[in-house]
This record gives sequence, C-alpha cells and structure tokens, in this order.
Amino acid sequence: RSLLGRIQQLDPQLNSFITVTEAQALAQAKAADARRAAGETGALLGAPIAHKDLFCTQGVRTSCASKMLDNFIAPYNATVVEKLAAVGCVSLGKLNMDEFAMGSANESSHYGPVKNPWDLTRVPGGSSGGSAAAIAARLIPAATGSDTGGSIRQPAALTNLTGLKPTYGRVSRWGMIAYASSLDQGGPLARTAEDCALLLGSMAGFDPKDSTSVDQPVDDYLASLNQPLSGLRVGLPKEYFGAGLDSRIGAAILAVVEELKKLGATVKDISLPNLQHAIPAYYVIAPAEASSNLSRFDGVRYGHRCDSPVNLEDLYKRSRAEGFGAEVKRRIMVGTYALSAGYYDAYYIKAQKIRRLIKNDFVSAFNEVDVILGPTTPNPAWKLGEKSSDPVAAYLEDIYTITANLAGIPGLSMPAGFVDGLPVGVQLLAPYFQEGRLLNVAHQYQ
Ligand code: GLN
Repeated sequence: RSLLGRIQQLDPQLNSFITVTEAQALAQAKAADARRAAGETGALLGAPIAHKDLFCTQGVRTSCASKMLDNFIAPYNATVVEKLAAVGCVSLGKLNMDEFAMGSANESSHYGPVKNPWDLTRVPGGSSGGSAAAIAARLIPAATGSDTGGSIRQPAALTNLTGLKPTYGRVSRWGMIAYASSLDQGGPLARTAEDCALLLGSMAGFDPKDSTSVDQPVDDYLASLNQPLSGLRVGLPKEYFGAGLDSRIGAAILAVVEELKKLGATVKDISLPNLQHAIPAYYVIAPAEASSNLSRFDGVRYGHRCDSPVNLEDLYKRSRAEGFGAEVKRRIMVGTYALSAGYYDAYYIKAQKIRRLIKNDFVSAFNEVDVILGPTTPNPAWKLGEKSSDPVAAYLEDIYTITANLAGIPGLSMPAGFVDGLPVGVQLLAPYFQEGRLLNVAHQYQ
C-alpha cells in the first residue's frame, strides 16, 4: 500500500507505469502473507516488483507501449511472470518502455516519454526506461526488463542501478513479445547485484515452451556473491576507451578498476577489434528480425484494427499505418529492405558474418581474462528530445552494449559514480553462463 501510494503521488511526473494493478497486487500480497504465516520462507515472498510491458500477463493489458496493442489482453502469463509469481513476488503493474522495445531513450512509447528521476528534463535510457525510472524513484525495489541491444544495462547505467542481461537462452522468452528473437533476453533491474541475483535465480531456467532456452541447471547466484576477487583477471578493451567516450566517464570507469585491484584483481589490456562494425551489423540484424516478427500485427488476429476497411489489403495497410509509431515503421522498412532479394547477401548475410567475428573476438578475449570491463554508455543521460530527430545519434549510444547480444554472452551494468550530477555505469561482460561471476564481482565492488 505504501508503494501504491508513492506511485500515485510521484508517477504522474515520471510516467514509468503504463498500468497499475492495485487490486491484483493487494490480493497477491495477501496470498504471500498467508504463505508466510503458514511457515514458508523465501526472500521474494511478498516482494513488490513490476513487469516491463512486453511480458504477457493474463487478464492485464500487455501493450508493448504501442497503439497496436493498446487493447491487447493476453490469455496467459509469460514464463518469467509465472516464475516470479510462483515464488511470491507481488506485481504492482506494467512498466513503460520504448514501443516494441525499439529505442535507447524511452521516447517512442505510445503512452509518452519516461523521465529520468535524477533530472526530469532528461531521458532514463531505454528501452526498459519505465523499469529503471520506477526503481530509481523508489516506487518499486526491482523490476523485469528485456535486453536486445542494451535495454536493461543502458537504462540501469543512466539511473544508477544494477541490471543484468543473461546469456542468450538462460531466461525463457515464452510470452515475452518478440523484437529480435536471436538477441532478446529478459533479465532483472534492481539497486544492487544481490537483488539481481535473487531475481535472476527465480527467472532463469529451462522452459520446454521456448526452444532456444538452454537445458542447464541454474547456478546458486546468491552463493556466488561472496567469493573473494583475488586473482580475478579483468580485461580492458582498448576500443572501449577510444574516441566517442566522454572522458569523465572514462575516468569514472578507471576509478572502478582501481577499486577492483584493491580487492585483488589483476588488469590486462585487451582488444576487441571488430567493435567498430557492431552498430551497422546490429542495425541490420535487429530490424530484419523485427520486420519478420512484427508481420503478425496485421489487424486480423489481434491488436489495432482500422475503421471500415474496404478489403483485406486496405485492412492490413491502414491497421499497420495507424497502429505503429515512426521508429517501429523505420525498423520494419530497414529490415524488409535488408532481407529482400538482391540485398540479402549484401546486408543480412554480411551482418551475420560480422556477428560471428564479434563472437570470436570475445571467445579469444576470454582465453586471457575472466571478465571484460568498460563503460556501459559513451555519455550520461541526454535531454528529452535531444536525439529524437536523429536516429543514428541514438543508435551510436548502443556501441558498448550491443556486442553482448550479438555474441549471446551475459553482461551487467552497475553504478560507477556521477558526471555532472548524472549517474554513469560500468559494464562487466563474462563468458557464457557466467552470470554468477558478474554478480560476484559487482557485489564485491558494491
Ligand atoms: N537501443 C537498441 C535498439 O533500439 C536496443 C534496444 C533493446 O535492447 N531492446 O534496438
């Protein structure tokens, strides 16, 4: 009740929630109380959270922040939603995001932009901007997010939080509305690595309903938090500290490195030579997959339908023209172009080859180091509207985060201090399924 009051009082300024599910939350809280009274324990029993509005929730609208799904009520829960409910989490509602998770500023939502609680004139990052703003403003202690190219880590960085993108396949995508299926992963955002460990432990695991989820036991993430860091080999990729990085962020990152050295880590300079190709490759592959995934929104099966269509063609055209926002249309156009005959080899296949080179860069780097460390973003939070007329300027903000998705490896962002009063993040990357190592390093530092 206290958090619901806080949401009512503060969220009109932030716009972090699309839907608040008060009655359901109170019922879930009561059920959690009863389980506790019956002797059940568990850190998440009764823990208030909220879900990014691309996780399907039975009986509660799942909009993906799009006019297209403004009227969509899923008949089932996403696996992540089910799993967190099963351990007793209380969901307070559905969180704002960029439309269909396309964006880095949470400005493309049909329900309006989200504001950064640290400075209401600035963006909170995206696409999980509602998740980040709600936690940073202490409306909820933790939330789910999704990360296709940085959408958990980048908003975490811009709002002073910890956020984790798991290894591709670690968390089920079933019931998570698809943006780019080979890159999408759900994960937690919270204030600390410890809270992320708690959440991830309940979100992760094999799901027969998601054919890309991996059948491998889930580590005990809480147990891994307290390992000493002595002997940890930290790699600093020279490409992450080059032109384009705000030098004040560079200094904040090196201060984190000094702290890790005091905790026993050793540091090595490494190279990820294909970083320069990551943005063009990602912005071919992600829109290509999006153009395919979003073809299901045709005005027939679900979602927005135009008034009085004269025939089927008109129904498709006008429903999609009215239902999708500008950034979503841009991605569908780019993706359709890259996949079309004559351009497929030149763009899509080439991007896939670059993707393999990027993966190979990580595989060789992890022969030498245990974690890779660098900035999460090149700049702190920018002003609302500052980059909205220049999509490429916004795409460039994803430079440090998208490679983890292209390679499928886990990545974590944690607070690294402030630049001009604005939070900045440090990113840690690890080999496949080493989420425990990332949480360990972050927890020791925190
Ligand atoms: N900013 C990136 C994009 O717009 C990443 C978004 C995401 O991770 N969902 O595609």
